[in-house]
Amino acid sequence: MIIKPRIKGFVCITSHPVGCLENIREQATYAKTQLVTDDRKPKRVLVIGSSTGYGLSSRISAAFSCGADTLGVYFERPAAGERTASAGHYNSEAFCKLARESGLKAEDVNGDAFSNEIKEEVIAKAKEFGGTFDLVIYSLASPRRTDPVDGTNYRACLKPIGAIYKNKTLDTDRKEVKEVTIDPANEDEIFQTEKVMGGEDWEAWTDALLDAGLLSADCLNIAYSYIGPQVTQPIYRNGTIGRAKLHLENTAARITEKMKNAGSGKAYVSVNKALVTQASSAIPVVPLYVSILYKIMQELGTHEGCIEQTCRLFKDRLYGEGQTQVDQENRIRLDDWEMEPSVQQKIIDIWPTVNTENLYEKTSFELYQKEFHKLFGFGREDVDYELDVDPSAPL
Ligand code: NAD
Repeated sequence: MIIKPRIKGFVCITSHPVGCLENIREQATYAKTQLVTDDRKPKRVLVIGSSTGYGLSSRISAAFSCGADTLGVYFERPAAGERTASAGHYNSEAFCKLARESGLKAEDVNGDAFSNEIKEEVIAKAKEFGGTFDLVIYSLASPRRTDPVDGTNYRACLKPIGAIYKNKTLDTDRKEVKEVTIDPANEDEIFQTEKVMGGEDWEAWTDALLDAGLLSADCLNIAYSYIGPQVTQPIYRNGTIGRAKLHLENTAARITEKMKNAGSGKAYVSVNKALVTQASSAIPVVPLYVSILYKIMQELGTHEGCIEQTCRLFKDRLYGEGQTQVDQENRIRLDDWEMEPSVQQKIIDIWPTVNTENLYEKTSFELYQKEFHKLFGFGREDVDYELDVDPSAPL
């Protein structure tokens, strides 16, 4: 069949297997130019949330910059008849194909990472995998979580705390800049968001891996966070999701303590740059901010995508010269170029002037759209989208 993008709001319900394969090949090619030469580079890596966005790029950096074997965990939909698989499913299949062709081990577990069953399955697979992990990347982004202890369902929300939030936002479907008004979250919504996107599940994964003796003496255990600019502060960092990220960041210290006591390395949170991913495109205001940010950083020559960020994380921060550089809160900062005062000043200057009419001139919305299509394997110049493809055929 001919597969075309079918976009509904901030998701695309189709994805293209060949486009996804080429995306992975492109990222792997870049990662190979960013070789990590340090002796401490990881040999066996577990990536939780490995099928898209930051987790996927982390897995690609681990394999193609470090030569590591990887075990990936994700929650993705396989193809069924005429229905395409989700992009993350094709991405993972493509990754495993390319990694194995390079002589690396690559195994996957597809299921709910929040559940005890999937943790047990991963641990059983990890034991067969050939030794302990020297790097764990925790990169889940999910709107919901079922507590594995008591079965309670929690839902995350994207709301301000304490006051109504009014700001500009971008309707990416209609290509329209408009006002958005969001009511503040109540205590229960704050609590539920923390339950989903806070550090509880990261800690549960660490406990399970420590109990199973699966973390090496020098293991690094990394989770991803975001801080962001003044314009998104009420909806992001000071909102429900920011509260969850604070919880995640505070969990890092406790996890490090547990890992130290077990003689198994340490944990860090890495604060990454704002980028177009399936998760970030769902956050109000963020797509407009990202479109402006892309323009500024492209002009400065400092623009990065997920793979450039994760390669920098591996090469300069985790396995660079000397100690891992951290901020006062012990966080790794990969958002350093995004948060440069001159970049943020430009955001503040441009923000009030952007409207529907000048959207393409004042921002890089065109690049935003291209990157969004690319998340699902579309819009690549080296793929013939008029060719017939079987969505269920192995890549
Ligand atoms: P993403 O949507 O691209 O990836 C999410 C991953 O989580 C996918 O692999 C998905 O399969 C997996 N997942 C979701 N629910 C799952 C479940 N129940 N079980 C197993 N796997 C599940 O998201 P992303 O933007 O790459 O975000 C990853 C992390 O990076 C998040 O912590 C996010 O806050 C952080 N981060 C993102 C940005 C950004 O701009 N995108 C910036 C800084 C930090």
